[in-house]
Amino acid sequence: MKTVAVLGGGPAGASAAERIARAGLKTILIDEKLVWEKPCGGGITYKAYAQYPYLIENATPKKLVKDTVLAAPKAGSAKTTLTHPIVIYARIDLNKMLLHRAEAAGAQIEKERVLGLNRTSSGWQIRTKAGTIEADFCIIATGARNPLRDVGTQYGARDTMVSFGYRVLANQIHMDLQFLPNLEGYIWVFPRADHISIGICGKGEPAHALRKRLEHYMDEKGFSRRDAQFYAHLLPSLEACGWRKNRLAGDGWIAVGDAAGLVDPITGEGLYYAVRSGDLASQVVLANQDLKTTAESYRRLIAEDFGLDLTYGARLAREFFHRSMFFHSVPSWMVYLVRRSPAFREIMQGLFAGTQPYRDLKSLVRRNLARTLGEVAQSFVRSAVVDPV
Ligand SMILES: Cc1cc2nc3c(=O)[nH]c(=O)nc-3n(C[C@H](O)[C@H](O)[C@H](O)COP(=O)(O)OP(=O)(O)OC[C@H]3O[C@@H](n4cnc5c(N)ncnc54)[C@H](O)[C@@H]3O)c2cc1C
Repeated sequence: MKTVAVLGGGPAGASAAERIARAGLKTILIDEKLVWEKPCGGGITYKAYAQYPYLIENATPKKLVKDTVLAAPKAGSAKTTLTHPIVIYARIDLNKMLLHRAEAAGAQIEKERVLGLNRTSSGWQIRTKAGTIEADFCIIATGARNPLRDVGTQYGARDTMVSFGYRVLANQIHMDLQFLPNLEGYIWVFPRADHISIGICGKGEPAHALRKRLEHYMDEKGFSRRDAQFYAHLLPSLEACGWRKNRLAGDGWIAVGDAAGLVDPITGEGLYYAVRSGDLASQVVLANQDLKTTAESYRRLIAEDFGLDLTYGARLAREFFHRSMFFHSVPSWMVYLVRRSPAFREIMQGLFAGTQPYRDLKSLVRRNLARTLGEVAQSFVRSAVVDPV
């Protein structure tokens, strides 16, 4: 029987291992930490739990958040209530649940650091401190800081965002998203079951400047950093050219999740793409049990499933964060329109749910433009009549 080694046991690796093991292939998952609090917001969209219901239907501690406050420079803030909640986990809990599913499906779980890989005529030798593990095929799921240089995405200078955050012992019902002047990125405040995760992600700005922006925001909003735990990590955010030349698979291996750069370049959503790519990788492996024709099939499947839309999203990200219209940034217009127009709020529902493809977004906004502007005018008149001063 063929042996599949899954290197990394985050959401991507655990999802791939679960499916491959359940189908009866010998599956070994190797992770140096296994159950740990990976730096992350932990937010899961409707798109993810509608497709994978076990991401919401489980006994794992989580918070379901519907109330959202968006804020941007010169636009103030706008409240909105989501039709479908965002499900927010502490990553230690999410990882534990997903690893448990992989183990229950029959995957062998090893707590080891992978030191290197050797390609042999028949497969792979995986070097760990404890010795060597042999496998016929490797799934690379070692995250954004993948140390295995010959496999997985090769990040260019603009293909990642720096991100920092704090886990703060506090309670809050709603979620905050704050856009900032001249920053390709944003601050989030995500309430979890027993604490809040507050973080910032940004591209093209030095780490110390980003951290200063976050701490300034926390001071302003009254979030104490005393007893708060600091975290930092890389967030993949491929540019359009990064998507086109992305090293997703090769001879005897497939990369999934962050190790393959599979993160939404605008929202930073990576958990769905980790689980989804783990699923697609398992489909390819199981359909090509000689494990020879997998690379091309996987590249095609990723492109058709979500890769082309995220490539388009990478182009849109530039416009979203850097374009100015009538002296205001796009996020500022977004906040303004969310406050004034139900039609625009409806468009935003699809973005929060993760169900609105980027390719149709501009035409959807254009089709709704007359209605949106009409609602803005009405709202303007209403506020002038009700509150004329
Ligand atoms: C600050 C921040 C906030 C985020 N917030 C969100 C959010 O709210 N919602 C969302 O959808 N996405 C979010 N993301 C993205 C999300 O965290 C990732 O997309 C997701 O964790 C990817 O899963 P993964 O399994 O590919 O990688 P990871 O979760 O990083 O797992 C990789 C695993 O590989 C193991 N590993 C690495 N190297 C080795 C080695 N040499 N040997 C053995 N094991 C190894 C690690 O121990 C780890 O367990 C956020 C990311 C960051 C950085």
